[in-house]
Amino acid sequence: MGCNCGKSKKSEGKIIITDPATRMLMCKVCPQSNKTAIVGLVCGKLAQPTENTCGCILKLKTQLRNQRCPQGKW
Ligand code: SF4
Repeated sequence: MGCNCGKSKKSEGKIIITDPATRMLMCKVCPQSNKTAIVGLVCGKLAQPTENTCGCILKLKTQLRNQRCPQGKW
């Protein structure tokens, strides 16, 4: 299973927020994020994307400029 962020209707359009620190802050307060001991903050469950989550390691994903939140938050 791969990341579904590019397929989400909510994440269509231009990427506006690209700053990793701002993205991380948004993920930290997001109800979908989960803190794990090994890889840190994850969007939903690691490597198990759903309609609203991508299963990505957020420490990495937030630094990749062309990536986006599956809910269109960034
Ligand atoms: S990527 Fe989006 S949905 Fe996932 S934890 Fe961050 S803000 Fe929430």
